[in-house]
Order: sequence, then C-alpha cells, then structure tokens
Amino acid sequence: MIDIQDQTAFTGQYIGGRWRPGRAGVTLQDRNPYDQSLLTEIAEASRDDLDEAYRSAAEVQREWARTLPGERAAVFYRAVKIIDRRHAEIVNLLIAESGSTRLKAEMEWAAVRSGTLAAAGMPHRVAGRLLPTDIPGKESRVYRRPLGVVGVISPWNFPMHLTNRSVAPALALGNGVVVKPAEDTPITGGLLLARIYEEAGLPPGLLNVVVGEIGEIGDAFTLHRIPKFISFTGSTRVGRYIGELAMKGRTLKRVALELGGNAPCVILDDADLETAVTGAIVGRFLHQGQICMSTNRIIIEAGLYDRFVEAFVERARGLKIGDPNDPETVIGPLINTKQMKAALDRLQAARALGFRQLLGGAPLGQVLPPQVFAEVTNESELAQSEHFSPIAPLIHAANEDEAIRIANATEFGLSSAVFTKDEARGLRFAHRVEAGMTHINDISPNDDPNIMFGGEKNSGLGRFNTDWIIEELTTDHWISVQHEPRGYPF
Ligand code: NAD
Repeated sequence: MIDIQDQTAFTGQYIGGRWRPGRAGVTLQDRNPYDQSLLTEIAEASRDDLDEAYRSAAEVQREWARTLPGERAAVFYRAVKIIDRRHAEIVNLLIAESGSTRLKAEMEWAAVRSGTLAAAGMPHRVAGRLLPTDIPGKESRVYRRPLGVVGVISPWNFPMHLTNRSVAPALALGNGVVVKPAEDTPITGGLLLARIYEEAGLPPGLLNVVVGEIGEIGDAFTLHRIPKFISFTGSTRVGRYIGELAMKGRTLKRVALELGGNAPCVILDDADLETAVTGAIVGRFLHQGQICMSTNRIIIEAGLYDRFVEAFVERARGLKIGDPNDPETVIGPLINTKQMKAALDRLQAARALGFRQLLGGAPLGQVLPPQVFAEVTNESELAQSEHFSPIAPLIHAANEDEAIRIANATEFGLSSAVFTKDEARGLRFAHRVEAGMTHINDISPNDDPNIMFGGEKNSGLGRFNTDWIIEELTTDHWISVQHEPRGYPF
C-alpha cells in the first residue's frame, strides 16, 4: 500500500480494485493552484476504462447488496478511523490540490469525517413498509432496495466532501459506485477516497474512480447502460445537460442535480451589527467565495445600510490574503486561470457600469483580494451572476418587503441567510424566501449530515443527507402475497 501522503502515488485510475494507468493516451497534469507546482501526472481514462469501471461496480454490487447491514456499517467505522489517523495528510492534500486555506481544509476534513460517520448509521435505517389493502387475504409489502450502480460527478470546490456525500451513502446503502472527479482535483475529489475505502476493507471493484477528459468520457458517463442514478454536483449549465442526457440514453436514469447558487444574505434594520457583519464576511469570503452556498449578494435594509457598509468594508480590508498554508490566511487562490479571468471580466463590467467600488486590488498570482461594490442594482450582472470569487455586491433595500423581493429575484434558490434580533421577524422572513435552505443569524454556507440539503429553482433537483439521501439512493419494490384465493371477475 502506497502512503497517501505521497501524491505521486496517484498516477492513474482505480478500476476493478486495481490502481492502473488510464488508456486514453492523454496525461493530466495536476497542479497546486497557489504555486503551480506539479502534484502528479495522471494517465487519463478512455471510454473502455469507463466501461470496465461500470461493469466492475455492477458485478461486485450484486454480492455487496446481500451483505448484512452491520458488515457494511463496519467499513465506514473503519474509514472514520483512517480519516482520523490521516487527518494532517488529508488537510495538506486539500490545501495543495484545491487551494483550500488551512481553515477551510480543516472544515472540509470535518465534513468528510461526519459524513462518513453518518453513512455508517445508514445500513440499519433502511426500512420497508407493510401497507393495508382492501383486497381480502392480501398482504402488501414495500421493500427498499439499493439502486444498483450510482455514477457520481463532482466539482473541485469542496472536492472530497462533495464526492463523499454521494459516495458514502451510496455504498452504505448497498450500491456500487463510479466517480468522475473534477479535472482540477482528481486526488481529493476521488482517488484519495478510494484509497481510504480500500484500506477500510471495501470489496475491491465496488468503488471505481475514473479520471478523464470530458471529450472522451463525459457523455458516456451518463449514457452508459449500467448506472441507475447520476449524482451530479456542479454548474447549472452542465447540470441541465446531464439531466437531458439521462433521459436520452438507452436506459432512463434518475438524477440528483446539485447546481449553482446566488445566496442572498439579508441584513434587517434591527440586526446586531457585529453579528451581521461577521456573518456576511464569513459567508462571502470563506474559500474565496467558491462555495455554491456562498453569500453572493448582501442586501441591507435602509436603517442599517450606512453603518453596515462601513463596518463590512473595514472587516474585508483586514482579511489576510495569500498563502493557503498559513493558518491566518482567509483568502487563498482561485482554483484556476479560467475562474480568475471570469472574475476579472466581471469586475471590469461592474466598473464600466459605474458601480461604486469601496475595496479592491489587483490579483497577486491566483489570489484575488476582496472586491466590494456598493449600491449595486439587483438586475445587474454583478448581482445576478454566481461569482465563485471574493466579489461582494452590497444592495440597498428600502424596507423588509423590498428586501424579500430582491432576495427572491434570482434564477437560483439554494441557500440564504437573514440577520435580525427579532426571532419571530426572522422566521416570518425565512418563510418568504424561495430557497431550499435559510439560516437566521448564521452564514449561508451550512451543511449538516443529519439535516436535509438541497435547492429550489435552477439550483437543482434532489436532496442530500440522512433520510433524504436514503430515499434518493434506494428504490421501492412492492411485493404482495395473496394468502387466500382472490375473487376475480372472470
Ligand atoms: P462544472 O459544472 O464545470 O463541473 C462539475 C463537474 O462536471 C466536473 O467534474 C466536470 O469535469 C464535470 N463536467 C463538466 N462538463 C461535463 C460534461 N459535459 N459531461 C460530464 N461531466 C462534465 O462545475 P465546477 O466549475 O466544477 O463547480 C462549480 C459549480 O458547481 C458552481 O456553479 C457551484 O455553485 C456548483 N456547486 C454546487 C453545489 C451544490 O451542492 N448545489 C456544490 C458545489 C458546487
């Protein structure tokens, strides 16, 4: 077994329980986004490699589905121990590969750990139902079964957690899995988890990781006849496409689409200023703003606007930027040059529109300092685009009704936040927000393995965590028993 601390160990695919190079004839260079150092080179997967991965998952899954729940749970308890033992290595890999600051990497490690622990409890929680029927002598049972094989496509921003939040429940519930991590994070988005579950004793071949180019394996990943379910986390543009493909192949399949966001953080005029500023700062700048639940717009009610803006800019100015390894750093690198270009283009457009910029600064390599704009109009591109960078649009709302109208005027509906000292007012406001998740007096990025996660509108379809993910990753089978002869009409 190669130590996971040695990134160069990750040079290929994990297919059929074997670590081997892919056969596409193309090599992926996996680089540290902060200093561009080469982490590893990966021989990419071909369509045949993908096919082998799906066939392996399907074959091993048949046995796996028959194991006792306790046997499956034990794998995840062992995985938690490995995650604990390799805490520092995992955090260092998240920093090196995904540009996570140390504090974000620690949060992601904790999310992976708690998600794995939650998965350990799932095998014993899959319950069927006995249902009453009006047919004499009939007994109706509805069993819940694993789906079979689940395909997982994950993004680079919380690569290990967002891969594991599908992978761990899918496996725990008796499914086989094939993962396609994002190009920027093949290790933390897939290969590292494979190594951990391999060491935890998962049957070889049940979990497979294919690292490859979209042109080679993109469509085939969804169109393949074996997977029954595609769990996609990424942009709304690609998610729509995956959803269409899932209906087009020879076999129809279910999808979970966890997509983009444009979370409003609403500061009502009775909010505690310090709490609200901290919530908006953390919600906006955690992981450089590269989180689907990031606070993308800060909407401030008139009575507190001026004081909030002044305090927000002061706090943003003081955030430490730079080396993600430094425990004090809050804003590290953007993941790649494409994301940086998108951010710079948007800044230029915002300036051209004449928005008042209160804080800014040129990028230092891949690190973009916080950019704050005031009196932004909600109809502008600056307010309507998902930034995935440390750009903070501040929006003035005349009153609570205008604040809710602005908050909901977006194509997205993932997370949201509202700050007020009046809990009843906060609850009333939260009920009016069109989103899957609303947090009162807390930051918009919130994920808890014991509570549902998911969005509305163009933020996607499907729900994660606990009972909701059990529902998604299993299927129903009605089996009835006719205990006595039934009176048919002919
Ligand atoms: P992306 O859509 O570009 O890529 C996501 C994944 O899809 C990657 O693995 C990528 O390789 C793959 N992909 C891209 N094109 C594909 C194709 N044609 N066929 C198959 N796979 C394809 O998104 P990204 O830039 O990696 O991530 C950022 C986006 O993800 C943001 O919009 C963010 O809001 C969203 N996101 C959503 C959630 C959520 O839970 N709702 C969580 C994190 C990120």
